[in-house]
Amino acid sequence: MSLQSREDYMREAIRAAKEAQLEGGVAIGAVLVEESTGEVIARGGSTANHTNDPTAHAEVNCIKEAAKKLKTNNLHDYTIYTTLESCHMCLSAAAWARIPRIFFGAYHKDVDSSLVDIKGKFHDEDEAKRMNLRDGNSMVVKGGILEKECVHLLDSYNKQHKSNSSTV
Ligand SMILES: [Zn+2]
Repeated sequence: MSLQSREDYMREAIRAAKEAQLEGGVAIGAVLVEESTGEVIARGGSTANHTNDPTAHAEVNCIKEAAKKLKTNNLHDYTIYTTLESCHMCLSAAAWARIPRIFFGAYHKDVDSSLVDIKGKFHDEDEAKRMNLRDGNSMVVKGGILEKECVHLLDSYNKQHKSNSSTV
């Protein structure tokens, strides 16, 4: 599959988030795209809650799938698109994988923090400047791609989650 714009790739990440939700996970999704070909190499959703694996965030799942598929831990030609601003663990995982770019949709400040257990306040666009990749360059992180759609995705999940738990 070869797509064109950053928005197109974010739509793929939104699709991955919806699939994750259908499978019992949190509505957060990510895709990994090869920059030179525009091909989506891997997709992942958040499976942390229903698999009792606190490290199974969408980005980590996506990175693991890609590394396994490509048989390498060096993903320097790849970009992550994720529906929600990454946490420090995922930023670090991307740095270890030498992934130089992350584009995200919703900022943490724009979503209900109770829904995804966000205790800290992250601001990845600033944080990324301190994340040195092995080649000495900083990681580039940019948010706000299809921001409204990504915020809506999590708001909907949150409403459903709250109404489900109130009826149990
Ligand atoms: Zn994370």
